[in-house]
Amino acid sequence: MQIIHGKTKNEWLKEVPVLQEVLERKESYWIHSKDSAFNADNANILPAKKRLMRFAPYFAHKFPETNKNNGMIESPLIRVHQMQAHLEQDEGISIPGRLFLKCDHALPVSGSVKARGGIYEVVKHAEALAIQSGLLTIHDDYRKIDSPLFRSFYSKYTIAVGSTGNLGLSIGLIGRTLGFHVDVHMSAEAKQWKKDLLRKKGVNVIEHPSDYSEAVKLGRLTAANSAHCHFIDDEKSTDLFFGYATAASRLKKQLLEKQILIDESNPLYVYLPCGVGGAPGGIAYGLKQAFGRHVHIIFAEPIESPCFMLGMATQLYSRVSVQDFGLSNRTAADGLAVGRPSELSSMYMAGCLDACYTISDNRLYRYLADLIDTEGIYAEPSAQAGFYGPILTSLNNHVPETATHIVWSTGGNMVPPDIREDDYSRGKQERMNIQKN
Ligand SMILES: *Cc1c(COP(=O)(O)O)cnc(C)c1O
Repeated sequence: MQIIHGKTKNEWLKEVPVLQEVLERKESYWIHSKDSAFNADNANILPAKKRLMRFAPYFAHKFPETNKNNGMIESPLIRVHQMQAHLEQDEGISIPGRLFLKCDHALPVSGSVKARGGIYEVVKHAEALAIQSGLLTIHDDYRKIDSPLFRSFYSKYTIAVGSTGNLGLSIGLIGRTLGFHVDVHMSAEAKQWKKDLLRKKGVNVIEHPSDYSEAVKLGRLTAANSAHCHFIDDEKSTDLFFGYATAASRLKKQLLEKQILIDESNPLYVYLPCGVGGAPGGIAYGLKQAFGRHVHIIFAEPIESPCFMLGMATQLYSRVSVQDFGLSNRTAADGLAVGRPSELSSMYMAGCLDACYTISDNRLYRYLADLIDTEGIYAEPSAQAGFYGPILTSLNNHVPETATHIVWSTGGNMVPPDIREDDYSRGKQERMNIQKN
């Protein structure tokens, strides 16, 4: 009999009933009984907010698309009426409340959620190096960083990262802009166009035939052996995590601008696509800090890569991989193709996460085409995972009409036109297939 982390499969199924569906590769929904005493600490987030403010003049100067937000790398929050109506009709249910899309597919600089944590960690490192060497003080105008002096200074240092694609893209773009050498260790899922684009920007792309965890491990090892190299650790970095967390207070402001107040009788539901858990975890941590128990956090993962749900439900956290339970970690959602959850994020999410669900690749593609047809918005397959959330939440909970739902879109603006077209065709095909059945 096969033993998985000390138990037989049947013992696991008895202890964690949701595994039945998960292991049959069915779309499934799991409610987490979380640690209710949890309090997110603003002291973790505030330094990141302040540091990003210091860099704002540099961003505004270097990336004109951030000008309208005064150098904040931020995305719009928009109401998606048509998509909500479509989802309701598609499922034959009603979704009480209003549906919004948080457009991180349109974040400036790198077109994905990784422009939050990834860029934050790089600029934090860059600031520390420059202050140590006497080139910069925190009272300076950071536009001075855009100079041959600074670029030549940073060219003596390397930044390395392991990635399924988008983190590498963010780190590579900001790293090269500052003048760093950048090594990106790419896993097998990483799309060719992402590697091509990075190489064009002068990034050293190292391709690994293995999956994401292996790419991270190899990157970590190579970096440990070289002085002057900073490794950005997607599985363990608190800088990445709290960089993501800065999203929440900005979102709160956007909601207020729309005169949406979140409280006891006006709850907020946020649906976040989850890979290793860093981006959704960091954002969730910030949201808990901003909205307390009035926000409900729901993570979405592909049916072959539900590493976060598996880690939380079995309480094995980062000790478990989807492969341990016989799942393949193969999905078209490259940003979510992660077999093992982040230890750091798992620890924090024990007190934040309300539910997790899994979603099929077919459904991701259907939503991709639907979002184009209803709202005229392209987002990559990974970024569609949140759209199943309002449906599952409405079916499994009592959701009041006063609720606000936010689907967090996570990537897409850098995807080349030919790939967008292929994605759309597949989505339309999946729609037709489902109508035939
Ligand atoms: C990275 C990524 C995610 C998930 O972030 P994790 O930190 O890996 O959980 C979701 N969507 C897209 C498009 C991504 O690139």
